[in-house]
Amino acid sequence: MGATGCSVKTACPYCGVGCGVLATPQDDGSVSIAGDPDHPANFGRLCSKGSALGETLSLDDRLLHPEINGARASWDDALDLAATRFSETIAQHGPDSVALYISGQLLTEDYYVANKLMKGFIGSGNIDTNSRLCMASSVAGHRRAFGSDTVPGVYADLEEADLVVLVGSNLAWCHPILYQRLVAARETRGTKVVVIDPRETASCEIADVHLAIAPDGDVAVFLGLLAHLEQSGQIDRDYVEAHTSGALAALDVARKLSREEIARAAGVDAAQLVKFFALWASTEKVVTCYSQGVNQSTSGSDKVNAIINCHLFTGRIGRPGMGPFSLTGQPNAMGGREVGGLANMLAAHMQIENPQDRARVQGFWASPVIADKPGLKAVDMFQAVADGRIKAIWIICTNPVVSMPDADSVRAALESCPFVVVSDVIRETDTTALAHVLLPATAWGEKDGTVTNSERRITRQRAFLPPPGQTRHDWKMICDVAARMGFADAFAFENAAAIFREHAALSAHENNGARDFDIGALERVSDEQFNALAPVQWPQRKGEEAPETRFFAHGGFFTPDRKGRFVPTPLPLQAARDGLTLNTGRLRDQWHTMTRTGKTGRLMAHAPEPFCEMHPMDAQAVGVMDGGLVVVASQRGEIIVRAKITSRQSRGSVFVPMHWTSRFASKARVDALAMPATDPVSGQPALKHTPCSVRAFAGAWHGFAVCAARPAPDCAYWAVAPVEGGFRLELAGSEPCPDWKSFAGAVFGLTNADEPEWVAYSDRATGAVRLAAFAGEALVGAIFVGAGAARISRNFLSQSLNAPHGPEARVRLLAGRPAQSTADDGYTICSCYSVASGIIIREIGNGADSVQAIGAKLKAGTNCGSCRSELQRMIHEHRLAEAI
Ligand code: SF4
Repeated sequence: MGATGCSVKTACPYCGVGCGVLATPQDDGSVSIAGDPDHPANFGRLCSKGSALGETLSLDDRLLHPEINGARASWDDALDLAATRFSETIAQHGPDSVALYISGQLLTEDYYVANKLMKGFIGSGNIDTNSRLCMASSVAGHRRAFGSDTVPGVYADLEEADLVVLVGSNLAWCHPILYQRLVAARETRGTKVVVIDPRETASCEIADVHLAIAPDGDVAVFLGLLAHLEQSGQIDRDYVEAHTSGALAALDVARKLSREEIARAAGVDAAQLVKFFALWASTEKVVTCYSQGVNQSTSGSDKVNAIINCHLFTGRIGRPGMGPFSLTGQPNAMGGREVGGLANMLAAHMQIENPQDRARVQGFWASPVIADKPGLKAVDMFQAVADGRIKAIWIICTNPVVSMPDADSVRAALESCPFVVVSDVIRETDTTALAHVLLPATAWGEKDGTVTNSERRITRQRAFLPPPGQTRHDWKMICDVAARMGFADAFAFENAAAIFREHAALSAHENNGARDFDIGALERVSDEQFNALAPVQWPQRKGEEAPETRFFAHGGFFTPDRKGRFVPTPLPLQAARDGLTLNTGRLRDQWHTMTRTGKTGRLMAHAPEPFCEMHPMDAQAVGVMDGGLVVVASQRGEIIVRAKITSRQSRGSVFVPMHWTSRFASKARVDALAMPATDPVSGQPALKHTPCSVRAFAGAWHGFAVCAARPAPDCAYWAVAPVEGGFRLELAGSEPCPDWKSFAGAVFGLTNADEPEWVAYSDRATGAVRLAAFAGEALVGAIFVGAGAARISRNFLSQSLNAPHGPEARVRLLAGRPAQSTADDGYTICSCYSVASGIIIREIGNGADSVQAIGAKLKAGTNCGSCRSELQRMIHEHRLAEAI
């Protein structure tokens, strides 16, 4: 733990870039956060999310003690019950009647013991992870091509490449520090950038070419590229002959397609495609990065292999500035893969289908059993819960009732499950609400262990705060349950370091270069050495002085013949496209289900409401106005979100962010709309491709409110976000409200005992009502409702919760605007310096014509840099408007 004023080196808990963080506890109990200048992922920089980590450490909302059926319980009772119910269920129904559903945000040591318990001691493969939703298709693609789940390259390749292709990857928002490294390299060496994405994302600000493909048009693009590479003679014959197999079968698929067929399937103009093919073919140093836009698809594994095929064909792999590069979404998706946290893998990158591997792992663990077949992957796992095959499940560090496709069915499945254990750091989530046993876990800043980032770099996550309440480390509670199930000896770990040593030793066990994952050089680290461990990239084989940091430049694949395999990737069958397709994804300032990032008003200010982006012509076709509320509906359900009309969205496709939960909005869990369709190889759900419709929400009234206490609205639409001193919320009702004062009181959380002073204004002609409640000079809450959106300054009102309200201030408050200003400043663009869009637009109008000029005037974009692509876009849009 960190002493006051002493910096602790740790790793950011958010995305797969895996930035190093310096956390320094302060005298006043706060923690200052800075980027670790020595960490090779970020060299001192942090994005907006990482920079705001210090604001997310409060104990509000934390689960601090165990509970059984909603009542506080002792650890012994909770663990006894969990172990007993799991043991009884196994004894009665067999090992496959229980399951663990875990998370890419666990530390490697947590993951290791969970996998060991399920596969080696319970004897089932029924352990899967939310990483299944994130990068399972990359794993499947790697294993098919390389014989192992190997990321061949390193981050420096993006800086050494002459061409970087981003496929289904909004690097600017989802991997912001890597994006900034690319931007810097582009400025110095003129790196060309191509974005392949149905949306014009923030990453397009640096794109030389944007291929706005049809949803799932990626396989077609890379089949076309493979054919073009052959036709233009861009084949590395030596590499293909010496180090690969199966090229002809893959080429056969590509050769059969005409350029017109490719263009039609890709949904892109043929001339644009040719331009991209020529650029890729003529640039030796090319890196093709891909993430969820590739993975989250029924053809995700084929997309990955279609990309890898092109790199194998040209031998552009494993050398500086070249290679396919899977960018993981979660901070420890890679660590989870190392320990076999997916249902179809064994520990240390060994194969569950391989009897020698099973015997090797079982022997090493000296375990009574070993899972002899893959377990159920996430979607199948929750279907098995629904139909009663799984009767006891332990969900660790994840919120599947929000994040799984067809999420309402997942909720129904858990409601019907005889026994549900949930370990979490947060008390109230959509999933904790369904637990029979709740186990309080330590959070980031309290935990201790390791994570692995997208370039295979292992970094220590270190504690700098004491565990609050009765929280316990995840690895500890898993070992405690294992001990109670009769496996005490195999789970008698004293600390995370002891687990790491066993994990490292297993990676080297009977390896001899046969497996890619090997960190045997670390198997004897002492506790002190573990505590001091600097970021280190695998492989780290015993006795190897300077291990190669990249894979496959000279072959050496992990297939039986050590050759890389081309995989034929047929065009996916595409259903006739009429109607709209729902695409989902991340926002710049939010992380997953907002349990942490939703705590800070600074991050929420960038997008305080859930929204749906749609093309102007699609919006016009269904009568939707920009800024109006819409209902997005699929076969599985409906959500209500705010419409954003933008030509950056392709026609026929709408985009809704993945983050909102029932805690932040009335009805915006977008994954409740997604179908449970999965990739047949990887089992990854197609979260980015759901047929949907959009219609305007017929609201009887619309409103905005601020209040000091967390609001409790009861109306068709609400979306809440924290602000300094309280909350702001957008509201709308489908029925007229008979009593606004009672409604406002309920929203503000007033009880009969409260006797606030009310100030009111109403306009009979328009039906507008404005109400504010005060306790002395303190504002308890204010609400502004009417038939349409109120013309008020949301920023002014959001800032008013901390101000004293004498008579004049009360009048100003009800006016909804500050004295000197008539315009709202809009949404926050720069989170670091809280600079709003309206202020930036005014400065651009005054002549600030570059990101640097805006920074010089307003400081926007001068700290973490996450907003620079938006600043650039605003400048472009201003120039465009002027030109017209
Ligand atoms: Fe964290 Fe941002 Fe770095 Fe990702 S890019 S690890 S979110 S600081």
